[in-house]
Amino acid sequence: MSSPLTRLLTMSLIQKMLSLIFLKMSFIRQLFIYKKLKFPTAVEVELTNFCTASCIKCPHKNMKREKGYMNLELFKKIVYECGKYNLKRLELVGFGEPLMHKQFLEFLKIARKNCPKSYILISTNASLLKGSLMNEIIQNKLLDYIHISFDGAHKETYEKNMPPLKYDDILHNIRNLLAHRKYEKPQITIGIIETTETIQELDSFYKMWKKYNVNIDPQEYDLWSGNVEDRRVRINNAKRTPCYKLWSDMIIRWNGDVSICCIDYENRIVLDNVRNQSIQSVWNSKRLNNIRKIHLAKKFRVLPICNRCTIRYNPLIWFE
Ligand code: SF4
Repeated sequence: MSSPLTRLLTMSLIQKMLSLIFLKMSFIRQLFIYKKLKFPTAVEVELTNFCTASCIKCPHKNMKREKGYMNLELFKKIVYECGKYNLKRLELVGFGEPLMHKQFLEFLKIARKNCPKSYILISTNASLLKGSLMNEIIQNKLLDYIHISFDGAHKETYEKNMPPLKYDDILHNIRNLLAHRKYEKPQITIGIIETTETIQELDSFYKMWKKYNVNIDPQEYDLWSGNVEDRRVRINNAKRTPCYKLWSDMIIRWNGDVSICCIDYENRIVLDNVRNQSIQSVWNSKRLNNIRKIHLAKKFRVLPICNRCTIRYNPLIWFE
C-alpha cells in the first residue's frame, strides 16, 4: 500500500497534468466562466468572527478587523434572497466559530425554512457541539453537512495545533455527535491540516475514524496570502488560472460587508454591504466584474491579496 505522502504527490502530479490540459481549453473555459453569473453557487455567511480556538494554521489571532455577531434582521434579509434564487449552498462559516452565536439555532431554523433547496453546512472545531444544541441539530435535521477541524491524531499534536482546546473534550463531543446521528444526515467530514507533524499521523488518523461513517479530509496547509508561518509539506506549483471562487462564492461578513474572498480575513477589499444592496446586485456589480476581468487577464499583481495567494484550485472545478 502506498504511503500518504506518495498518495499526495501522485494527486499533485495528476492535478498539474489536468491543469495543463485545461489551459489549452481556453475557449471552453471562457464559456463556463460566463455561464456562472446569475447568482452565487454558494453564499458564505459569517455569523461571528469570534472563535474559541487559536489555531497555529490560522491568522485569526492577529486579526485587526472589528469583532461582532450578525443580527437577526440582516440574516433574514440574506436568507430571504438566497431562498428566492434557490441558492445551492448556504455556508454558515466565516472567520470564526459559528456555534458561538447565541441565536445559532434560531438562525438555522430560519435558514431551513426560507432556503428549502439549499444544502446548509457549517465548519466548526466542535468545542460547542454538545448538549441541547447538538441534540436539536440532529433531531430536527437542521444541517446537511458538518465539517469538523481536528488537527492531530494524537493528543500532543492536537493540543499544540489547536490551543486552548483539549483533545479529550473535543473527541468526546465528536464521538457523542456520531453516536446520536441516526440517519445519514448530517454528513460529517473530519478535516486535518497537513503539516510536517500531522502528515506522520495520517495513517493513525484514518484508523481512529475508521469505524465511524465519516469522510476524512486531509487539507493542504494554506499561507492565508502570506499571513501565517510556512509549514507546508507540499507546494502546489500548478499554473495559475482565473480563480473560480470569483464566479461561484460570495462571502458576507457579520456586519453585512461583502468580501472579495474568505482569504481576505481583514476585509481589505469590501465590495459593498448587503444591508443596503441585494446580493444579486453586488454579484453583478461593476466592481466585482472588474476584479473578474483582472483575473481573466491574469494581472494578479493588481490585487495584492490574490497575488500572494497560494491556493490553486483543480481546474475541473469549472465543470461542476
Ligand atoms: S486567488 Fe486566492 S485570494 Fe484571490 S479570490 Fe482566489 S482564493 Fe481568494
